[in-house]
Amino acid sequence: MESCDTSACQSAREIFHELEEYYDNDNLYFQTIGSVLQAAELLDLPHQLKLIISQPKNELMFHCPTQMDDGTWRLIKGYRVQHNNVLGPYKGGIRYHEEVKLDEVKTLALLMTMKCALARLPYGGAKGAVKINPRSLSPKELERVTRRLTAALGNNIGPDYDIPAPDVGTNAQTMAWMADTYINFAESSSKVSARGIVTGKPLEFGGSAGREKATGQGLVYVLETLLPGIGIDLVGQSFSLIGYGNVGSWTARLLQARGSELRAVLDHTGAIAHDGGIDAEQLAAYVRETGGVAGYPEAREISQGAFYSTPVDLFIPAALEQMVDLEHAKKIQCRVLVEAANAPTTPNAEQHLLQKGIEVLPAILCNAGGVTVSYFEWKQNRQSETWDETLVDKRLKKVMRRAAELVLETSRELNCNMRMASYAAALKRIEKVYAMRGVFP
Ligand code: NAD
Repeated sequence: MESCDTSACQSAREIFHELEEYYDNDNLYFQTIGSVLQAAELLDLPHQLKLIISQPKNELMFHCPTQMDDGTWRLIKGYRVQHNNVLGPYKGGIRYHEEVKLDEVKTLALLMTMKCALARLPYGGAKGAVKINPRSLSPKELERVTRRLTAALGNNIGPDYDIPAPDVGTNAQTMAWMADTYINFAESSSKVSARGIVTGKPLEFGGSAGREKATGQGLVYVLETLLPGIGIDLVGQSFSLIGYGNVGSWTARLLQARGSELRAVLDHTGAIAHDGGIDAEQLAAYVRETGGVAGYPEAREISQGAFYSTPVDLFIPAALEQMVDLEHAKKIQCRVLVEAANAPTTPNAEQHLLQKGIEVLPAILCNAGGVTVSYFEWKQNRQSETWDETLVDKRLKKVMRRAAELVLETSRELNCNMRMASYAAALKRIEKVYAMRGVFP
């Protein structure tokens, strides 16, 4: 683990001293709020707003007894963190992962507040997680965990209050079970609107066209907007990916369709590479069947170190947090690091990459396509409408282009890097709304 010595961590240290909360430098929440507070300083944000955003409004933790298929019982831990709702209802995914911790969920909730503000969506930020390995549970066990979790959340979620969505380890099926459980508890007069409790639902059950690919699609729109300014044309670029799940595999397929070439992939099962390019569609089919990239016959197996050292134009982390640390950053040879995952780059790694002349495009911009189409789904549910994929993509493109242009303008205006600019643009919006609404009481 590396020690954080950037000015971002200095900003966080001062605020947390005042809050009498102590964090170590490696802590993901501390690092992330540190960067946000650094942007707050650039804007000279009122001190009370710095304090407000430094901690979530609510942190819920619950323990759900769940019976396994063999008759044994497990007590399963879950979290829901609601960071801020000044812009609208809390919004954020639910993650199933065996190593999840409260500070990780807090970080992801904070990033959702920033992301929704940047994309100008009428939402605040939240995140949930359940400490299980979804790959080790049967479908029936997963269903029981999901229904029990939804019941435990009870009125702490709601279509006008806090709206979950899929994230790592969850999918449209998980959302269908959540929605069905919630609808069963809803008053008969609100059963139709109760569908809006979650987004990312299956198409046949109130989901939106284009939601499954939305995060990858939004990322492609961001690249189309920003790369020409860096002197890069999307056609003919090489790229590598960490993660080949929803976000990674859709990003690969959509970039390939625009003429870019996938060279290397690392996931939880191993790493593969092919100098002549890996077919993104074929690999997606292989991963659906086998669960990971290891053993893919059309590429050679490589070590993790060799993966990070593979020269590419675009390096795209699309898995978990902190997967690009300083040691990895020293190996990376690319022109742009595109953050498809949330918080994949540590502050020290980012500093190193920027010093090497590598552009870093921040997560709250690059992966905002997911929550944007979630918003479209929520809107369609409320209006009992069904939009086709062409309309969804057109509206998504507009939101992503506007957000990318806003980040670029802010970076020029404040003379700062893209991460600072993305946080500053988000904070400006939050500050405006606090100035209008005031801080209760
Ligand atoms: P997913 O569960 O579909 O895929 C996760 C991927 O991460 C898998 O390929 C897995 O193999 C890989 N992975 C897990 N542990 C790893 C390890 N130790 N080393 C290498 N790879 C590892 O999840 P997803 O929905 O694709 O989410 C990926 C990232 O994108 C997360 O940061 C998530 O928060 C973010 N995100 C997702 C969405 C969405 O709509 N799904 C939206 C915005 C942001």
